[in-house]
Amino acid sequence: MRIHLFNGGKIQVKRSPKSGDFENRLYTSPHNKNNAVISAPPQMTRPLVQLRFRDSYYYSNIINNVIDHDFDYLVTLDEFFGDSKHAYLARPFKKHSALHQFIEYTISRLLSEDSDNIDLERRQKMAEHYSPEFKEILGFDPTALPINEALNHYGIPHQSFKDWLTESGKTFSTATEDDLDDYQSDLPWNQDAAYQALISKCTDEVFFILFQNRALLLKFNDMVAKYIRETDLEYIDNELREYFASSSTLKRASIPQWVKRAVFFRDRGLCSLCQSDQSGLINIGDAEHYDHVVPLARGGLNDVSNIQLLCSSCNLSKKGGPPKTSDFYEAWYSKDEDP
Ligand SMILES: [Zn+2]
Repeated sequence: MRIHLFNGGKIQVKRSPKSGDFENRLYTSPHNKNNAVISAPPQMTRPLVQLRFRDSYYYSNIINNVIDHDFDYLVTLDEFFGDSKHAYLARPFKKHSALHQFIEYTISRLLSEDSDNIDLERRQKMAEHYSPEFKEILGFDPTALPINEALNHYGIPHQSFKDWLTESGKTFSTATEDDLDDYQSDLPWNQDAAYQALISKCTDEVFFILFQNRALLLKFNDMVAKYIRETDLEYIDNELREYFASSSTLKRASIPQWVKRAVFFRDRGLCSLCQSDQSGLINIGDAEHYDHVVPLARGGLNDVSNIQLLCSSCNLSKKGGPPKTSDFYEAWYSKDEDP
């Protein structure tokens, strides 16, 4: 069963985002058009992520469950990690991180599951019986498949199922299950650019949500580390082999500045373990304080998702020990203090 958080994960949906970008960065509450306009100046150098939240919390929840329940869950992890595929995660500090790759994989699996659960007959009856006005009120077009709705939500141009049928000289009311299967299974290939754009946008949103949760990142990296520890160097590409110090550990790589900045700001300049303020003391070029949550010696990755900010004392006492982080975060404000 699908459990949606926050009203279907669509709490901040701006309707009809058909065109490009800047105008859609302005968000007005649908309940009060005169209020709550949040705008960002168009500064090209800022790495902005546009959050439209179509199923992002749902995907985040699933990924959390997959990581928590490991092999039990719907995603077959072996398909992602098995046959030495995990070795591709060995390349140090790719901006398209290990977590991005896992999110992408899970979302594409979930989209494909969505495709398998369509009741075409029911949709055909609805298309036949509901007037266009009623469909408008419902905000639901039965001819638009979930993948079409997702692409429309992000304003990604593509050929809809209905248009695809028209091109083939067919109509929605006479479409068969085979047509449905053909369209949906071919879409990732025939409309590759649109499909990749969708996956990429959803992945950016889910990464934005999950990257803030250090406990989840620890579990993810611990899961990956199991595969790294069991690597058989004989079965991986030469190019990837050079990243391994041994068959069970990766070589240490210098931590790029963008990783340090991302982690420093995520952790709000506080040590992840003792929450002491590092913002006034730390030299941002000092790699000592940027800790591999799952140590390299235990199969940890050189990945932005596996780095946390520590003070030198916590860093020293953790060194070489088991994966460790904390689930304390600085609150936005204290509700216990006097106004
Ligand atoms: Zn500390």
